[in-house]
Amino acid sequence: MKLTEMKQILASGQIQLTKSLGQNFLHDQNQLRRIADGAELSKSDKVLEIGPGLGPLTELLIERAGEVLAIEKDRRLVDFLEKRYANTAGFTLLHQDALEYIRREPQDWSSWKLVANLPYSVASPILVDLAQSKGCPRMMVVTLQLEVARRLVAQTDDDDYGVLSLLIQLYYEPQGHFKIPSDCFFPAPDVDSACVVLKRREQPLLTSELNDAFARLVKLALSQRRKMMLKLLKQNWPVEKLTAAFEELQLSPQIRAEKVSLEQFVRLTQILDGSST
Ligand code: SAM
Repeated sequence: MKLTEMKQILASGQIQLTKSLGQNFLHDQNQLRRIADGAELSKSDKVLEIGPGLGPLTELLIERAGEVLAIEKDRRLVDFLEKRYANTAGFTLLHQDALEYIRREPQDWSSWKLVANLPYSVASPILVDLAQSKGCPRMMVVTLQLEVARRLVAQTDDDDYGVLSLLIQLYYEPQGHFKIPSDCFFPAPDVDSACVVLKRREQPLLTSELNDAFARLVKLALSQRRKMMLKLLKQNWPVEKLTAAFEELQLSPQIRAEKVSLEQFVRLTQILDGSST
């Protein structure tokens, strides 16, 4: 979908874009193709798209995948897409708030790929909820605010390394990210954007019953970045247990959480909350 067509559709439908819904539409064909390429789609794939907007990415997804489920919150865009894609085989459109839908209707997304130019204000909770769902998508290829993209792919000791990096990387291996210039969108957003490719891990790092414990641990450990992790964790565990765990992992009692790797957090969860195996 070219920019001229996008503007025509908006004008003829008298659609005024809503900033709070993150309505910045991607019209650059090269960037759209790059996103779809990143998802390595074939006709055996099922794709979840959150926030199809006027459908510039949807178009490519329908072309390349076997099934596309699109969830859009804005009634005006749903009306437009329903007309445009009426009777398109393999395409389903839901008029829903995607975050509410994911939370209200927990389901197994393990055979799906998420490919989306996400509404930026709810991008992080959508990703975390899907990652923590009972079956997380095989891949997530998502365009979002550059700052959030950097956090998703950050490694130990990077400036952007934090709770979001750990909550996502417990389930996914980042494959890379690329910046998308603001002028590829209409209207151009005030923030920089990037597309991130995340692939689900072949083998989970933790047994699923410890996932919640891992999330609680990293949130507490990183709740005050300047503080020593040991001091923060004392709020939840007896000091003897913590000291023994730190010794086993050869972690200094003075260490701050931003220096602790994903694998070390996994091991700490197993020692503090699991059977220690
Ligand atoms: N995919 C389109 C594109 O690339 O041009 C539109 C992307 S735009 C950044 C985000 C879209 O998400 C908008 O169409 C907006 O209406 C929709 N949206 C915003 N909040 C939503 C939510 N909670 N659930 C579903 N869709 C939402």
